[in-house]
Amino acid sequence: MNTTVAAICTPQAAGGIAMIRISGPEAAAVAEKIFLPAGRKKISEMPGHTCAYGRVAALNGETLDDGVLTVFRAPKSYTGEDVVEITCHGGLYVSRRILREIIAAGAAPAGPGEFTKRAFLNGKLSLTQAEAVADIISAEGESALSSANMIRDGALFKAVKAMSQKLVEILSALAAWTDYPDEDIPETSPEEILTSLSAAERDLKRLADGYDAGMIFREGISCAIVGRPNVGKSTLMNSLLGYERSIVTSEAGTTRDVVEERLRIGDVILKISDTAGIREAVTEAERIGVRLAERAIDRAQLILAVFDGSEELSDDDKEILKKTDGLNRIVIINKSDLPQKLYKEYFSDKYILEVAAKSGAGVEKLKDAVYEMFGLSGAGGEIFANERQKACLDSAIGHIGEAISALRAGETLDAVTVCVDSAADDLLGLSGEKVTEAVVEDVFKRFCVGK
Ligand code: GDP
Repeated sequence: MNTTVAAICTPQAAGGIAMIRISGPEAAAVAEKIFLPAGRKKISEMPGHTCAYGRVAALNGETLDDGVLTVFRAPKSYTGEDVVEITCHGGLYVSRRILREIIAAGAAPAGPGEFTKRAFLNGKLSLTQAEAVADIISAEGESALSSANMIRDGALFKAVKAMSQKLVEILSALAAWTDYPDEDIPETSPEEILTSLSAAERDLKRLADGYDAGMIFREGISCAIVGRPNVGKSTLMNSLLGYERSIVTSEAGTTRDVVEERLRIGDVILKISDTAGIREAVTEAERIGVRLAERAIDRAQLILAVFDGSEELSDDDKEILKKTDGLNRIVIINKSDLPQKLYKEYFSDKYILEVAAKSGAGVEKLKDAVYEMFGLSGAGGEIFANERQKACLDSAIGHIGEAISALRAGETLDAVTVCVDSAADDLLGLSGEKVTEAVVEDVFKRFCVGK
């Protein structure tokens, strides 16, 4: 990796300030050709972490802008290489023109994610951390950001490393057995290896469960609130909004009157679809019949089915129950402040809440129900960022499973070793300690140019 590359790191839009980064062994030499420090300092002699104010000029001497240049010396830079960053005025034309001159001065244009890829290849951050950088850039909402940040902090990397370490211990125990079968090695026996493998399998599965929770924290839960008119759906929504005071966005969806509203309970975003259907005044028949079918019930990961506790179950209510049967449903018996005609016993659901949406009484229990339903309660820490990581983990679980079966079936320890070896490789692939170039290329393809 000896080329010197450059790219505009700030967004491709007009703004107050733009930053162009040059990274590679020739970074200072390239910068010297287009940046003239006011104090006539020589850029190639500037120590790391120092700045110079000066004039940005084209190779033909024409002044383009003035700006600040910062020097970072390898390995103390984002990429681990020599880095020069030029901060200039934020016009699109100006920054692109400067980049052109930098390229004419000898740098190559940086590819997508090239700076972060170099940082990874130079050991500045793990692959999971690099992936988290991409996630932070695209993070939508607080919980997505915090899970990406957690990964960047290396929690996942550490958990995976600890797991790899355990597998290495198992491998060395296996090696002791296969290499010195005649020796009496008291510490290990097939039973003990089986115990260790089972423990490893359990831990890996726990990490995999964390992935599903992680996806929910990152992506939110799509949710449909259903119920016949006047049971209190809008009141419930308002109560939920008021309860956490955290509408994240309220934006029009793709179809004209399908609105998606986002509200937060705990650390999870509920994406409530078709709130237009809830809020609009339409005829009763329309609301229950056609619109119910139209609603995103089947696509929703969570159904909040609302009933009026002060009234007996009507035919419409029963229809709604039938339509949402078997889905991830929480039954909400509303208006608990009024004399009750509807009781929990009527429903066979696991999750039934009695609330008074109007006063907000009982609404807070929804969080516990959602957390329990989606297995979020103990989640956190080593959240998985993406499908690639999950695939590595699943493969490792598969290989450990094979090792356990092989051991139980009395196959040779060599066969067991091969399986455990593959599982260890899977984990090294997950953390990026052992990945093919193709995987690295694929990961960084997702990045934008300039990161
Ligand atoms: P929607 O048609 O299902 O959206 O129902 P609304 O939210 O518009 O509520 C219908 C009526 O029920 C309104 O008059 C609300 O004030 C009332 N309501 C909603 N929740 C409660 C509650 O918890 N207790 C009582 N007593 N009335 C409620």
